[in-house]
Amino acid sequence: MCGIDTYVKMNEIKTNEGEEKRSLNFIEAIVEKDLAEGKNDGRVQTRFPPEPNGYLHIGHAKAICLDFGIAERYNGVCNLRFDDTNPVKEDVEYVDSIMEDIKWLGYSWNKVYYASDYFQQLFDFAIQLIKEGKAYVDEQSADVIAKQKGTPTQPGIESPYRNRPVEENLALFRRMQAGEFEEGRMILRAKIDMASPNMHFRDPIMYRIIKEHPHHRTGTTWKVYPMYDFAHGQSDYFEGVTHSLCTLEFEVHRPLYDYFIDLLQKGDNYRPRQTEFNRLNLTYTVMSKRKLLQLVKEGKVNGWDDPRMPTLGGLRRRGYTPQSIRNFIDKIGYTKYDGIIDAALLEHAVREDLNIKAQRVSAVIDPVKLIITNYPEGQVEMMDAVNNPEDPAAGTHPIAFSRELYIERGDFMEDAPKKFFRLSPGKEVRLKSAYIIKCTGAKKNDNIEEIYAEYDPATKSGMPDSGRKVKATLHWVSAEHSLPAEVRLYDRLFTVENPSEEKEKDFQEFLNPDSLVVLSHCRVEAELQKAKPFDNFQFQRIGYFNVDPDSKDGKLIFNRTVSLKQSF
Ligand code: ATP
Ligand code: MG
Repeated sequence: MCGIDTYVKMNEIKTNEGEEKRSLNFIEAIVEKDLAEGKNDGRVQTRFPPEPNGYLHIGHAKAICLDFGIAERYNGVCNLRFDDTNPVKEDVEYVDSIMEDIKWLGYSWNKVYYASDYFQQLFDFAIQLIKEGKAYVDEQSADVIAKQKGTPTQPGIESPYRNRPVEENLALFRRMQAGEFEEGRMILRAKIDMASPNMHFRDPIMYRIIKEHPHHRTGTTWKVYPMYDFAHGQSDYFEGVTHSLCTLEFEVHRPLYDYFIDLLQKGDNYRPRQTEFNRLNLTYTVMSKRKLLQLVKEGKVNGWDDPRMPTLGGLRRRGYTPQSIRNFIDKIGYTKYDGIIDAALLEHAVREDLNIKAQRVSAVIDPVKLIITNYPEGQVEMMDAVNNPEDPAAGTHPIAFSRELYIERGDFMEDAPKKFFRLSPGKEVRLKSAYIIKCTGAKKNDNIEEIYAEYDPATKSGMPDSGRKVKATLHWVSAEHSLPAEVRLYDRLFTVENPSEEKEKDFQEFLNPDSLVVLSHCRVEAELQKAKPFDNFQFQRIGYFNVDPDSKDGKLIFNRTVSLKQSF
């Protein structure tokens, strides 16, 4: 795990002018070398190949920024290609959400490609390999085939069906596609080398029968479906992809990728190459689609876009901006080593982006009434509240000040210790954008019910300085002029850094029971009346919040994107 400083050091170099500039990552270096050597006639083409079996997560964003980013940087093309080779798990709902998420990140594509567009070509290629004696139909059970695989140090055992005559293989494969056999009854395997030190070369499966699930695009046309290893490289080749970038776990698949490309390649100056980079793993979350799906299906979260999820939909709903995610991805960089990134780094990125962009507003999330006893009843003054001190062009907005206000319960203490600089009897504080007040007492039953104070009219904010120094500035809203709101506070979804690490325990045992706290009696200033879903704000002194799309019929709901400062 690395801290923020380490990342800056690893991935940025200072130019002479002192401005920060990122050095080439190792993949950009490979692309530049290929271009310099005139490979692929100077073309750069990448692809982003999601399987439509779930929603995209922040890990996918790392792949998206690389695939689309490389294409942008080298005037190339990046294809969006759905790797839709398993109809059992795939659905159009996922296809649609994936397109929406990529667009949201700020990338676009010319045409959507699907591995299923190549089913006929792949089928024909399989027939060719059968004819060349490079593939055969195996009728053994999956268990037996698995047992025969051997181990990395022990050669596998050849299937008794391995030397079937070509004609028999052809007839059986065609009958598999005709739907004559049940699922699992037989498979098509490549005939390579059962003794290869690379397990993926031990007669890998090329095709399996799937009949019970229609495909979301090809319906019931196909009864046999290609495995990833028999579809991916070939799809790259059919499309003209030059740089096929994927995560490190595919490194061991690369020889097989090259093996099939060798059989396809027609001796021109074009050849796709696979390069692997490290996956993104984040602390306190899980990144596997299978696990995320489980959380959704079992109701442990409120859907794929629950703001606690590491999905792009979840992050968007939480208030993350596309720019913050892209900045984060840029910071962490691409390497050849797997690791786990501190979630604080992602939070830092959104804080940094929202600091520049988010309008400052007043919201009191745990309200207690403050009465300014010497302020005339019925009087209202419109104060000028600065929209963003980081951006003078953002201007100001009016906020109503009156005799009865709300402040945070935690900003008052009856018997305050010396170091408590906020409100307590006899003490002075400034009310942001308004006056200095002095606390005169409080009404108490079990809890503090009301706090009393007197204001000094000579200390109005923006007026010539009264010369008085106070140690704290509190935010507040006017009781009458503020709006009721619900605020949802999120914490990490898991209580441990790496919930997937402990193999003996189910990752769900580490779910944080307090990952969502709903505060339903908050008060926000009237300025927020015009806020729209997904708008970002800084609630002064509290954190960054956005408007949840559940807000409707005048009911305002806010999500806490992140607190103002790192809290751990
Ligand atoms: P999961 O393991 O979560 O099910 P996947 O790798 O099967 O994910 P795909 O839809 O196949 O999901 O992924 C599409 C692309 O995104 C692949 O090229 C994959 O390498 C990349 N990708 C997936 N997860 C990550 C990650 N955590 N970090 C970086 N890239 C990723
Ligand atoms: Mg995959």
